[in-house]
Amino acid sequence: MISSEKPHVLIVGAGFGGLYAAKALKDAPVQITVIDRRNHHLFQPLLYQVATAGLSPGDIAYPIRAVLGRQENVRVLLAEAVSVDLAARKVKLSDGEISYDYLILAPGVRHAYFGHSDWEQWAPGLKTLDDALEIRRRILLAFEKAEREPDEARRRGLLTFVIVGGGPTGVELAGAIAEISRRVMVRDFRAIDPREARVLLIEGGPRILSIYPEDLSAKAEEQLQRLGVEVWTGSLVTAVDASGVVVKGQKVPATTTLWAAGVEASPLARSLGIELDRAGRVNVQPDLTVPGHPDAFVIGDLAALQDKDGKPLPGVAPVAIQQGRHAARNILRASRGLPSEPFHYLDRGSLATIGRAAAVADFGWIKFSGFFAWLSWLFIHIFFLIGFRNRFIVMFEWAWAYFTYQRAARLITGNINGRPSAPGE
Ligand SMILES: Cc1cc2nc3c(=O)[nH]c(=O)nc-3n(C[C@H](O)[C@H](O)[C@H](O)COP(=O)(O)OP(=O)(O)OC[C@H]3O[C@@H](n4cnc5c(N)ncnc54)[C@H](O)[C@@H]3O)c2cc1C
Repeated sequence: MISSEKPHVLIVGAGFGGLYAAKALKDAPVQITVIDRRNHHLFQPLLYQVATAGLSPGDIAYPIRAVLGRQENVRVLLAEAVSVDLAARKVKLSDGEISYDYLILAPGVRHAYFGHSDWEQWAPGLKTLDDALEIRRRILLAFEKAEREPDEARRRGLLTFVIVGGGPTGVELAGAIAEISRRVMVRDFRAIDPREARVLLIEGGPRILSIYPEDLSAKAEEQLQRLGVEVWTGSLVTAVDASGVVVKGQKVPATTTLWAAGVEASPLARSLGIELDRAGRVNVQPDLTVPGHPDAFVIGDLAALQDKDGKPLPGVAPVAIQQGRHAARNILRASRGLPSEPFHYLDRGSLATIGRAAAVADFGWIKFSGFFAWLSWLFIHIFFLIGFRNRFIVMFEWAWAYFTYQRAARLITGNINGRPSAPGE
């Protein structure tokens, strides 16, 4: 039961940051409200697997109520926050408001189109389950339409897949699309040969995976090329529409363009009325609080903070998890009258996967690539999945895909025109 004498901690967002903050306050003498506009916690690192038909949505999402159900000092509300009033200690919802004694703001970020929001309709990004299902629908429909397309040029357009942005998500998407076309769908069609699909990864900067050391970027590019992906670096996309993209003044006809370049902060940050960084994130104090508001914490992707060498902390799950736990610790300290402590990120390394059995790994003390990097990636991702059932099923799906070259979730949601299927359709 929630008692009204204890300090009320309001957590906005049950992603990695918010969920781990709530769990870290399990035995604390506080009452907690977790709000999220979705009823599930989503394991975003495996979204590309749903988008490319490797996993089903339920394998990587888990009801927030089920995760926190046994934690008696928490209530979970399905609600959308629209603004924060720091002075009045209130969060306005789309349908009401909630007061707090301590706030943990963790609504994350969304993909950004650098001022070209109209590109989104032609080049969806990947952040939610809906995004993943839409991308999957576009990829699978492109093959289906190509099978029926008599015109050679139009068929080539249908079988060209452009991925804009060579960060980990772009690399994962490109690798997975190349793999399903080269290995999984080979016997599925009669009029087309899916192996002829062109997969193009376009990166504006000088190399893909720019947060990794140069030799690992080069290894990743080599592994992608081995899978049949064309990698264009130093290539800015200047236009996107239904017929393809323009790169360096040259039109690339493509029916399917996917966006994996750049993010912008949740609009909730603007409502704080304080200075934000260029991506709209909150410049937090070293203890993760909003300047001038020791009772309001911002964590995860929405927080802008530098490490001890002055480098910005990356927008990755381990940062959000550690910050969630740290904010919880500082709230406990404050409730005991103790001063808050600065956050220090413990970087255990980064991994990015490329197709079925290759990856690059940078653990600081050791860097490697190939099959063993992929095995490390596999075990770490399964370990952090929420829910035993999900871990078991994902393990099984991967073993199945690995040995049979099958992708279990090759279903198109909605119908050919993109509408959700009517009952009985
Ligand atoms: C496709 C993809 C692949 C990734 N791969 C990796 C990877 O391999 N490794 C890695 O470490 N990181 C990866 N990341 C990054 C990682 O997922 C994020 O860094 C992490 O999720 C950030 O956690 P967070 O708690 O800040 O936000 P999120 O996990 O994004 O959670 C935000 C939550 O807030 C909710 N929310 C948002 N706005 C509101 C609102 N107004 N009201 C109520 N609720 C709201 C959302 O529904 C969501 O549940 C990936 C991200 C993406 C998109």
